Amino acid sequence: MNCIFCNIINGEIPGEKVYETEKSMAILDLFPLNKGHVLVLPKNHYEKLVEIPLEELQDMIQVAYKVTQGMINALNPDGYHLLMNNGKTAGQEIDHSHLHIIPRFSNDRVAFGWRHLKYQEEELKAYGEKLRHAIGT
Ligand SMILES: [Zn+2]
Repeated sequence: MNCIFCNIINGEIPGEKVYETEKSMAILDLFPLNKGHVLVLPKNHYEKLVEIPLEELQDMIQVAYKVTQGMINALNPDGYHLLMNNGKTAGQEIDHSHLHIIPRFSNDRVAFGWRHLKYQEEELKAYGEKLRHAIGT
């Protein structure tokens, strides 16, 4: 399998690693939205969030927390994003799951182009009910 993140994790190609655990690795994104943009990767190859075993996802979140604290101390951003794109439609460009940590600075011109929809009356409740039913207790 030819996966750039697996290659970096295995040391076959260089990556700018900032932190790692037994299960996760945090590296600088080579095409950052802002400088200091970090990717947290599970060391095992999974494509999307729900394929990652919870134990490994918990480790990723702990790594993200620690890296974010370091990023705040090192870069003093005005804000930051944690986000994961899952699937090509959602903007996932590399099919090895990765959590973005993106520092934000006022006037940095980063934009995601979000447009917000509105629910029709009753539609909000219908979506809530549909999701509650699927999620379960
Ligand atoms: Zn991979």
